[in-house]
Amino acid sequence: MIPIALPSLSENEADAAREAVLSGWVSQGPQVAAFEREFAALVGAPFACAVSNCTTALHLALAALNIGPGDEVITASHSFIATANCIRYSGATPVFVDIDPDSYNIDPELVAEAITPRTRAIIAVHQMGMPCDLSSLTALAARHGVVLIEDAACAAGSEIRMNGAWERIGKPHGTIACFSFHPRKVITTGEGGMLTTGDAELDRKFRLLRQHGMSVPDTVRHGSPQVIFEDYLVVGFNYRMTDIQAAVGRKQLQRLAELIGHRRALASRYAELLGNIDGLRLPFEPPWARSNWQSYCVRLPDRLDQRTVMQHLLDRGIATRRGIMCSHREAPYADAAPRHGLRQSELAQDRSILLPIYSQMSENDQDRVVDVLLAELDS
Ligand SMILES: *Cc1c(COP(=O)(O)O)cnc(C)c1O
Repeated sequence: MIPIALPSLSENEADAAREAVLSGWVSQGPQVAAFEREFAALVGAPFACAVSNCTTALHLALAALNIGPGDEVITASHSFIATANCIRYSGATPVFVDIDPDSYNIDPELVAEAITPRTRAIIAVHQMGMPCDLSSLTALAARHGVVLIEDAACAAGSEIRMNGAWERIGKPHGTIACFSFHPRKVITTGEGGMLTTGDAELDRKFRLLRQHGMSVPDTVRHGSPQVIFEDYLVVGFNYRMTDIQAAVGRKQLQRLAELIGHRRALASRYAELLGNIDGLRLPFEPPWARSNWQSYCVRLPDRLDQRTVMQHLLDRGIATRRGIMCSHREAPYADAAPRHGLRQSELAQDRSILLPIYSQMSENDQDRVVDVLLAELDS
């Protein structure tokens, strides 16, 4: 069986987890602090704050910006449902706009048309690791006085060329970027998330809000020769990452470049082997973007039925997934008719399939996927 994805975890990560378990401090502590420093250095961000997952990271981003009832947040429906849900958690209204059919990312021109006096923020998703058009989006956000938040759940290690230089997603380009370390992403801590920002005040708020609004963290009280009493300054949350997870994350971070190298090689090999097939559309990487290839998404020719193709591949031992979901089609969003057309989002969900890609994938296995897919396309 060839899986759709597979985390790359070794004895190194297992040893790190073991050490953290035996250290006597297993919740948010020194490993989390080190993971934050190393992640910030890697992406070039002034501040990085670790949390329990990317969904809570997105929620904290909106909470720290005081976005709430009456506010509108523009985002893609064509994303994992957590992107839209975090807007609902805050009490604000998600406003969905359509995607560009080539990049599967939010279309900046459609974002511009969707801005109203109530718009407070844009959440732009770097879908499947492919960077959004951040030059247009940051300019647009500045022009309208709204905040740009990057849902970089899938985009650890992805790069974008800004003003002539390659920079990692998370540097940050928008005001806040949120990452996921779920096993479906390129590096994993089991569950985990990270917020990066260049704004010291926002970083302070993330740290307060992730830990119950506590004025003095437990780590500080634990190490103090003086008795310290803490206060609870706001209604916060428990969105902490554990030191066990962070210890694993630090090892994964050391291997990020290597893991992405394998994925890039597999992506160019797919492009070689699947190029020039009539009606099959391969992912498009703009000249200013370098994807980490978290997923490899192809669009099927119109004559083929998505579910049938996926079933035939599964019957031959190859797992696939359909195109990224559309949140506006799910029950929690059924009560609000979308304000803007979402035709490209729906087509991307209905006409695309994700092919297996993971760093340990062998060329043999990739050949098998290609052979079975080509046979399907010939039928
Ligand atoms: C995976 C994902 C999330 C959620 O990340 P978790 O860490 O699982 O909470 C949010 N947005 C996008 C685009 C994702 O792919």
